[in-house]
Amino acid sequence: MRKLLLLCMSVLAMNLLFAQRTIIHCGQLIDVKNLQVLKEMTVIIDGNKITEVQKGYIAAVAGDKVIDLKNKTVMPGLIDMHVHMESETNPNNYLNGFTWNPTDYAFQSVVFAERTLMAGFTTVRDLGGTGANISLRNAINKEWVKGPRIYTAGKSIATTGGHADPTNNYRKDLMGDPGPKEGVVNGVDDCAKAVRQRYKEGSDLIKITATGGVLSMAKDGSGAQFTLEEVKAIVATAKDYGFKVAAHAHGAEGMKRAVLGGVNSIEHGTYMNEEVMALMKERGTYLVPTIIAGKSSADSAKKPGYYPDVVRAKALVVGNFIQATFAKAYKAGVKIAFGTDAGVYAHGKNWMEFVYMTEAGMPILEAIRAATLSASDLLGDDRLGSIEKDKLADIVAVDGDPTKDINSMGRVKFVMKNGVVYKNE
Ligand SMILES: [Zn+2]
Repeated sequence: MRKLLLLCMSVLAMNLLFAQRTIIHCGQLIDVKNLQVLKEMTVIIDGNKITEVQKGYIAAVAGDKVIDLKNKTVMPGLIDMHVHMESETNPNNYLNGFTWNPTDYAFQSVVFAERTLMAGFTTVRDLGGTGANISLRNAINKEWVKGPRIYTAGKSIATTGGHADPTNNYRKDLMGDPGPKEGVVNGVDDCAKAVRQRYKEGSDLIKITATGGVLSMAKDGSGAQFTLEEVKAIVATAKDYGFKVAAHAHGAEGMKRAVLGGVNSIEHGTYMNEEVMALMKERGTYLVPTIIAGKSSADSAKKPGYYPDVVRAKALVVGNFIQATFAKAYKAGVKIAFGTDAGVYAHGKNWMEFVYMTEAGMPILEAIRAATLSASDLLGDDRLGSIEKDKLADIVAVDGDPTKDINSMGRVKFVMKNGVVYKNE
């Protein structure tokens, strides 16, 4: 008996001795809670968790793996709250809808997922696709493919003819009459069914298109497309399943209904007025600005033939408003979470949003907080968003100091997600 006990104890001791910890020496470490840059810090990781954050460069013991980031700026893994992993802007996108199989979208999304992770985004919220975004999340979780941790809405929920009605502008015999199963609703019963259908399919949250949108084949880019009752029905049903609700919105009326209906975030927020800003502050609703999407779609619209005429007209106008609105909302004290609408522009350039946010008056450390701590708050996932004891080991590092050179956010040299190193240059 005593022999057995001794044997057990020595096996335990061996395990403790050889359990490999990872020790990261950080030249600079961004503390997103207190908005400060700490010098010469050590982060210790065990498995997929951060176990210690200490001042100075702590020496390794036998078995520890040391990662030297002494000439880098280290920060929590970045979070993009608005991406579309299945697609990327392309003049043929509308045609692809008829010629591509779901598997084509799936394979393409694998490329974009890896590109996103390598750009330092260890978590994203996918706000709408065909459903390949659900399979992609699962494939990443199983480590079949490399990509960020994904929270996905699956298929967005729209109203008939609205932004994200999948058969907009088709010829009549192809148009059909999509319903809640396909993410198209009319009336409160449909709303409940559409949310339940997303639950059944494996979504993590709900996305609605509360107003018209820029890239849909429809004339209106900003009018309200849900009634207040419909938004309330979506939000109430979503709560039953533990879902948060994100609302795409350009025009103020649709935005107001979405906020009053109880959504958690307004995406884009292009024509947000003071009344909506006040309501959002009162209710703690986040704005996810997507400035880069506005700017890049306005740029693409200038190229002849890039978009169909009906889209081009909207992109030229809407795109230019987003940054100014973001500046006003930020000043007014509306809560901001970082999001870019990746896919509307080229995947991997997500960091450019930091440039546009700082141009609009938000200090870089606050913009990084919007992409980490604030984003994790909006996700409702407190395992993410900062480099602290017991958080998941999602850690990235850039060359240079973003507080002195914003472009260093585009020079991501180290990426760790869930304790696994995906990039170390
Ligand atoms: Zn979007």
